[in-house]
Amino acid sequence: MSAHVAIVGGGITGLAAAHALALDRRARDLGIRCTLVEQELRLGGKLLTERIGGCLVEAGPDSFLATKPWAANLCRALGLGDRLIGTLPGQPVYVAFRGKLHPFPEGLALGVPSRFAPMVRTRLLSPLEKLRAGLDLVLPRRQEATDETMGAFIRRRLGDAVVARLAGPMLAGIYAGDADALSLRATFPQLLEWEASHRSLVLAAMARRKLMAAAATGSPSPMFLSLTGGVGELVEALVGALGGPRGNDNARLVTGRSVVRLVPVVERGRTSYALHLDNSETIIADGVVLTAPAFASAALLRPVAPRLASLLGAIPYVSTAAVTLAFRRQEVRHPLVGHGFVVARDEPLEITACTWVSSKWPRRAPPDLVLLRCYLGAAGREAVLQEDDDRLVSLVRRDLRSTLGIDADPVFVRVARWPNSMPQYLTGHLDRLEAIGTELRALPNLALAGAGYGGTGIPDCIRQGTDAADRILDYLLA
Ligand SMILES: Cc1cc2nc3c(=O)[nH]c(=O)nc-3n(C[C@H](O)[C@H](O)[C@H](O)COP(=O)(O)OP(=O)(O)OC[C@H]3O[C@@H](n4cnc5c(N)ncnc54)[C@H](O)[C@@H]3O)c2cc1C
Repeated sequence: MSAHVAIVGGGITGLAAAHALALDRRARDLGIRCTLVEQELRLGGKLLTERIGGCLVEAGPDSFLATKPWAANLCRALGLGDRLIGTLPGQPVYVAFRGKLHPFPEGLALGVPSRFAPMVRTRLLSPLEKLRAGLDLVLPRRQEATDETMGAFIRRRLGDAVVARLAGPMLAGIYAGDADALSLRATFPQLLEWEASHRSLVLAAMARRKLMAAAATGSPSPMFLSLTGGVGELVEALVGALGGPRGNDNARLVTGRSVVRLVPVVERGRTSYALHLDNSETIIADGVVLTAPAFASAALLRPVAPRLASLLGAIPYVSTAAVTLAFRRQEVRHPLVGHGFVVARDEPLEITACTWVSSKWPRRAPPDLVLLRCYLGAAGREAVLQEDDDRLVSLVRRDLRSTLGIDADPVFVRVARWPNSMPQYLTGHLDRLEAIGTELRALPNLALAGAGYGGTGIPDCIRQGTDAADRILDYLLA
């Protein structure tokens, strides 16, 4: 048997799926080959690391969560273990609120306070708002089991100010989402577990802190990891492991071609798929892994599985942009001690967050430069992305002037636009995933994976890509 698997999309999910297939001993023994098709000329999707003016610039993601092991494990498997780096430790993150930067109170866990003294001291909440947050200690558990938004949940436990200035900007920011629309269950189910186990989130966060302190050995481990050469190194290593930019006999990599049609072909009771590319090439596959964004996979599936397609098409995506600026260090008076800042709700700024790249990561910029990265867009804030690059840069510079006092001309600027890039896990997302799973049962040699479904971060995408490859292999080997 010499089966063939097609993977649509060459972002981190698709590359992880191809890698899992290429490495699987069962697949190799049986000569199972795969072809990955990516519409762009470049592989990596949202992972894009560039070198500009002696700096390392991440156009998309800059790191991955250390607590989700799949990315670091893949790096190690690819021989990149000694290239893993953590964020520089012990640095605060700030919140832009009423024209000033205030450090997040120490001891926040998922936006929930785990220590009293920093909460008493913070100027992010008024005394009344602190008292309201303290009510969490006595409020009963919620009885209904319906999906709640992240905003409603935090507001119910800790009050609106915590949504607006602490947990909201921190947690919803990760999804470029609106705290009052994102499903808590689909984004931070740990918070639900905390309420279930301890009733009070503060008590749960305190218990967790104690457990972590007891287990800690040596210096605290970083929350985020990257690679010395940026996340693009992971893409390069994956492509290298797959035989180079065109792949090898087992794994063919096709770039600059999009899959425009997916047609099931039934022969002797077995369904395979014909994937039509935009250059009129056709790929016949015994199994297919779709890793394109949900709306793109929906377009391919509409004629094949309309119900499944409409479930995928209902997952909304929002657009974002990342604007990176380098300044001469001597022209920046602000000490930039910290990892950057997020922006409180209703603050009159266009940017939603700013990472102080050269303070957060080692060796991202030469010593005489500082590197800052600002985010624009997100749910409810996409209108600004209609502006051209010059206008976006001038809005970012206006915000950097008012928050960090930076008046200098940047040495360089890089605007990276990411249209329809961030899937929104709205309330009901998990029910939708269940319905998608039900539809997929009728299509056993078709798998879906990627940011639109079971986690948007790099580790979750890698896990989903690997699981999708396993699902197809199990089918082919059955
Ligand atoms: C600005 C920004 C910052 C982020 N920061 C972080 C971070 O710091 N940490 C983190 O963990 N995550 C971060 N994320 C999220 C994370 O980067 C993404 O969720 C993840 O990279 C998505 O990977 P993917 O493979 O699922 O999708 P993609 O990277 O979108 O890959 C899908 C690929 O499919 C291709 N495609 C689509 N249709 C077709 C077709 N018909 N035929 C062929 N190819 C097709 C696309 O061209 C694309 O390359 C960030 C995202 C953005 C936009």
